[in-house]
Amino acid sequence: MKGRLAIWMLCAVLMLSACQNQSADSSTDSEHTTTVDSTDAETSEAIGVYTSDEQFELPGDLIRSNATVVDDSKTQSIITSQESYQIGTYIKISVYADMQAPDKLFDEIFYTIDFYEKMIAKNITTSEVDAINAAAGIEPVAVSDDLWMLIQQGLAYSALSDGKFDITIGPLVDLWGIGTDTAHIPDQTEIDAAVALINYHDIELDEANHSVYLKREGMKLDLGAIAKGYIADAIKQVILNRGYEHAIINLGGNVLTVGTKPNSDYWSVGVRDPNGGQSDIVGILKLRDNAIVSSGIYERFFIEDGVRYHHILNPYTGYPEQNHLASISIVSEKSVDGDGLSTSLFVMGLDEAYAYAETRDDIEVLFITDENKIYFTDGLADVFVPTNTLYEVVGAYKQ
Ligand code: AMP
Ligand code: MG
Repeated sequence: MKGRLAIWMLCAVLMLSACQNQSADSSTDSEHTTTVDSTDAETSEAIGVYTSDEQFELPGDLIRSNATVVDDSKTQSIITSQESYQIGTYIKISVYADMQAPDKLFDEIFYTIDFYEKMIAKNITTSEVDAINAAAGIEPVAVSDDLWMLIQQGLAYSALSDGKFDITIGPLVDLWGIGTDTAHIPDQTEIDAAVALINYHDIELDEANHSVYLKREGMKLDLGAIAKGYIADAIKQVILNRGYEHAIINLGGNVLTVGTKPNSDYWSVGVRDPNGGQSDIVGILKLRDNAIVSSGIYERFFIEDGVRYHHILNPYTGYPEQNHLASISIVSEKSVDGDGLSTSLFVMGLDEAYAYAETRDDIEVLFITDENKIYFTDGLADVFVPTNTLYEVVGAYKQ
């Protein structure tokens, strides 16, 4: 109950501050903003035309802001933004167009987020993932095409990282409870028992029926490391389908840009300072039609006896991964890939992760260590603009 109240208060503060100053999120472009109520009548000629019978049923308790509308002379466009608090995170969507984007576009976006949360969240008893987990060791469960695809992607990252990323990490995540009111250091026997239940090879997939079977009782899928990325990609699709070509999507720091700014400018996206507060950054990435996803020790954690226990767990040791990395940021085309890779590469550690990143020409990676050093792959040399003198910008990493 106390936790819920805190979330409401946090949202109220976030929404108020976002209405006053757009630089409150990772998008560092700050413009003067005015808050107005948008109505469908005002916006019926917008690109995103909705028929009156298209309705998006939203949960009654959805925490959501009104539209903020800015007439931006720099990009010669109207920026319409709305915010919400969903999937345990602060969400902000800004659409740049010739006229104000209709409320229905945001209804559709928030509905999409809710739809996937109700499919993927393992702590929602009606979700498909909960049904798979409840049937572990008992029987296969047929799943929707969306979840089938997401599980395939999760398995690809599990294989790529040799199980350092593992979508069957659920028992260990629940045991530590990091980010919840029950977070604590578990007994070693409990950790051993949870670790013994993790193994993505013990997921049996039946292609013909799209069914998923966790072979051993007690196993649990946890798709938390790729869900936000998958949802961000789905939101981008909604925006494009409705005819909008310029937008920025921010799911609690998972940022996905749609196109360029209307005047062809790149988007400036801040990279979070792992030692600072919500709006502190180490620098800016200049992006066009890209995703940037970060994983770090600052997102969810507790400190006991001077040790920080954060939410990225090593499935082999059963403990939060301690390897001198403070955060990893991935620039990729799709957000789901950035999300999968950010968690995978974090657990791999700097040496292995940097070597891997260099083998991929479709992604760029920025690493921040616990000694305040910043390393990045070559492609970011002209893209990353440092802004924080507390950090030493090294660039390429030499082992
Ligand atoms: P992210 O913030 O994207 O790095 O994802 C972290 C979330 O993914 C955690 O809150 C867990 O739900 C889950 N997770 C933690 N460690 C792992 C891991 N090694 N493999 C897969 N998922 C993980
Ligand atoms: Mg991730």
